[in-house]
Amino acid sequence: DTPAAPGKTYLIATDTTFAPFEFQDAQGNFVGIDMDLLKAIAEDQGFQYEIQVLGFDASLQSVQSGQSDGMIAGMSITDARREIFDFSEPYFDSGVVMGIKADNEEIKGYADLAGKNVAIKKGTEGAAFAESIMDEYGFTVTYFADSSNMYEDVKAGNSAACFEDYPVLGYAISQDIGLKIVTEMERGNSYGFAVNKGQNPELIEMFDAGLQNLRDSGKYQEILDTYIKK
Ligand code: GLN
Repeated sequence: DTPAAPGKTYLIATDTTFAPFEFQDAQGNFVGIDMDLLKAIAEDQGFQYEIQVLGFDASLQSVQSGQSDGMIAGMSITDARREIFDFSEPYFDSGVVMGIKADNEEIKGYADLAGKNVAIKKGTEGAAFAESIMDEYGFTVTYFADSSNMYEDVKAGNSAACFEDYPVLGYAISQDIGLKIVTEMERGNSYGFAVNKGQNPELIEMFDAGLQNLRDSGKYQEILDTYIKK
């Protein structure tokens, strides 16, 4: 028995470029761990959905304003967000790292950011981390709406560094994006699927039930292995 509202198509917001969680493949299809998990969970639980490719901060706003029913976007389950959103069980562990240009030999730690500018992505855990240390280390920040433009700003030399989720920056670096990581990972929160607090509770129920089924069947691991090569 599915608790989905009959005939309802849930609108699910996501980020634009956040490989390996959501990105376009060579054919222009939106793929990645989040996209494949949601697809498999919807099939398992028997609900319909439509993906809205909005960007991360825009997705947060869209869910809060009720223009989206939920979001999946490598979204960290933070205490601050728990005030505003209801989350599924965590489905992926993450953390924040600093990325610098691959040929930069000057920056070895946060102290070397003094007097420099740092690129961050609006509304993210990486941005919150940078904001929390910017006064201490004396750097300024510029905000971007998506990860690609944030990386480009570092490659172009406008920003000395960016802060990004480890699995995402690690994946980008494995694709020869021209950046590197020189510091340890900062502790971060795990990813969850989210709805506006108190709304669409059946979506969280179905996500959790479906996720558990995928873990049990091995499909969850299969999806991870598709995008994260050992
Ligand atoms: N995990 C980070 C957060 O939730 C970044 C998510 C993203 O950029 N899509 O803030």
